[in-house]
Amino acid sequence: MNEIVEAESARSGKTPIKGHTLEELTELIHGLGEKPFRAKQIYNGLYANRYESWDEFTTIGKDLKNKLEEKFSLSPLKVAKHLKSVDGTQKFTFESVSGSGKEFESVWIPSGDGGRKTICISSQVGCTLNCRFCATAKLPYQGNLKAGEIIDQVLQVERIVGDKATNIVFMGMGEPMHNYFNVMRAAKLLHDSDAVGLGAKRITISTSGVVNGIRRFIENREPYNLAISLNHPDPNGRKEIMDIEEKFSLPELLDAAVDYTKAMKRRITFEYVMIPGVNMSPEDAKKLVKIARRMDCKINVIPLNTEFFGWRRPTREEVDEFLRLLEPAGVPILNRRSPGKDINGACGMLAAKS
Ligand code: SAH
Repeated sequence: MNEIVEAESARSGKTPIKGHTLEELTELIHGLGEKPFRAKQIYNGLYANRYESWDEFTTIGKDLKNKLEEKFSLSPLKVAKHLKSVDGTQKFTFESVSGSGKEFESVWIPSGDGGRKTICISSQVGCTLNCRFCATAKLPYQGNLKAGEIIDQVLQVERIVGDKATNIVFMGMGEPMHNYFNVMRAAKLLHDSDAVGLGAKRITISTSGVVNGIRRFIENREPYNLAISLNHPDPNGRKEIMDIEEKFSLPELLDAAVDYTKAMKRRITFEYVMIPGVNMSPEDAKKLVKIARRMDCKINVIPLNTEFFGWRRPTREEVDEFLRLLEPAGVPILNRRSPGKDINGACGMLAAKS
């Protein structure tokens, strides 16, 4: 394990420009008395060319550059901490240059199948949900991230590792559906071909089961993948480990999931944290099979990473047995290896202290 602390100067007092849409930049440029096409140049420079200083915007004249430099900083984030795992995973702790002191984490996961390189990003500082198995839940909740702070996690991580991600997952700290506006705005900037330009199918939004958020997602026909952290196939059992079950019950959640697959003609992903003695019995497997058969889905099972309340990780034999019991579902099942455990970068381990 190797720790690098990046010292980046906080350009305080200026507004970070990242996170603005093309329409907003156009308005902003108009306000400075400049022609609209300048907005497109800035937009491309920020998200496609990823310029790090105003000097790099060579198509923009000196006068405008000076005006921009006076008012706006380029990056809203600085790196507070950077850890590298023995397995190649890297965890970044970011904080806002505005000096709020709030910290949140992103994870670079380079080792996926078929050359997949994933960045796992945060949508909130802490989380209001109280999932019993998740380390983020133990932190005080400190608010939503802005769109610029969300997208800049991707740009900063890619800059530092010197490589580009093939996939982005909103599976870091926070509940994306509780920060819908900023998350979808950042996703759009990641997707837009004039900005970061990632295919919509390479962007996954994960929710603990915020049904009104899923309904909004369907209504707006958001083109991204949707993942649901199911984690238990029975409402009573689910209530024991996830408070969200009190607000949106499992039957309601599964109806929304079916509607998503039908309306969007897309496969949905269920995530399932495996906890021996909690959600891995033959009875649980049977119920999960029944759920999976209702819709076009795949299941990602994740062995528990942290150990709370005396819960433990399942053994290889327990996982194999559970997977065998799930076979009748006839859907793809992936055992997520969850890399980065030595740097607390694996699923459910993100807990930057503020
Ligand atoms: N709030 C959203 C986004 C976070 S995704 C959501 O719940 O979907 C984080 C994923 O890691 C979720 O699927 C969650 O169930 C899983 N997870 C949380 N704690 C974990 C742990 N201790 N071990 C393994 N997976 C965990």
